[in-house]
Amino acid sequence: MKALRVYGPKSIKVDEVVEPQIRDDEVLIKIKYAGICGTDLHVYRGAMKDRVKYPAVPGHEFSGVVVKVGKEVSWIGEGEEVVANPVHPCGRCVACSAGKPNICVNFKILGVDIPGVFAEYVKVKGDKVYRIPKGLSLRNAALVEPFSVAVHSCRKAGIEAGDTVVVIGQGPIGLCTTQVAKHYGAYNVVALDVVRSRLDLAKKVGADEVINPLEVDAVKEIKEMTGGVGVDKVIETSGHPQSLEQALSILKPAGRVVLVGLCFEEVKFHSYPIVYKEAEVVGSRVYVDEFPRTLNLISKGYLKPEPLITHEMPLIDGDRAFRILEDRLEDAVKILLRP
Ligand SMILES: [Zn+2]
Ligand SMILES: [Zn+2]
Repeated sequence: MKALRVYGPKSIKVDEVVEPQIRDDEVLIKIKYAGICGTDLHVYRGAMKDRVKYPAVPGHEFSGVVVKVGKEVSWIGEGEEVVANPVHPCGRCVACSAGKPNICVNFKILGVDIPGVFAEYVKVKGDKVYRIPKGLSLRNAALVEPFSVAVHSCRKAGIEAGDTVVVIGQGPIGLCTTQVAKHYGAYNVVALDVVRSRLDLAKKVGADEVINPLEVDAVKEIKEMTGGVGVDKVIETSGHPQSLEQALSILKPAGRVVLVGLCFEEVKFHSYPIVYKEAEVVGSRVYVDEFPRTLNLISKGYLKPEPLITHEMPLIDGDRAFRILEDRLEDAVKILLRP
């Protein structure tokens, strides 16, 4: 089968590789659409050497059709349209035992620790597979993964009807989060980004207000907007080192900050607002059981993948697709590859 492989920093080739052989508890899926995510860009840059074995097949966001089913898998059949949770927890560690497989200490994810979905076929455990609801296209279903990240973080934020929510960063995860926050009943969703086209898109998918921190003093603006009170929840998706400080200064007393974006730099911030405001700062990593509810929300039209899909390209053009995202060209948000 054909698979896109990263050989080292920014070096990609589509190769002929052996098709995965399934075990009794696994299924083989023919991939129809596979989305490129920030994690794949890390693999592309060669930044995850401790986890990734090069040459590596990245990719974990996808939809496809089941073509082979292991003997022990009775709940899904050949020919069914599916998505799959790409996270493979160990099931035994302290986190798994506590019902939090998303923070498993032996966490393995497709496209990083095990071969990913930028290929014609992928094998996954049968219990990771979810049937795509009738009426939902394979193309839109391919975005269930980033939307599930957003659903998980909005649940962790505890968004309530009438909340004011700030979403920092309007990349793919931010744009999903803006939509989910709105659907969860936020009265006012304020979207922040430094790229104009992304703010336009945020507005299009439901943001009430958009702010470019390069153009205005975002903290001042948001304080004014809330009559000096501050906001109920901030969800940080950009990983920018100044976001936490910013989030704490715009937060209402007893507000909550959820960190989703990864920041690899050292972060300096004043911690006293956490005490003064009894602010909560919590992390949110991938998702636990969110896939089915996210599929439902997308299939009902409450969450809209379509505006986020800016490009669709054949797998063979993977090199160009990665360069578009890496160099931030063509206002790209989500690029889907078709194997
Ligand atoms: Zn992803
Ligand atoms: Zn575990």
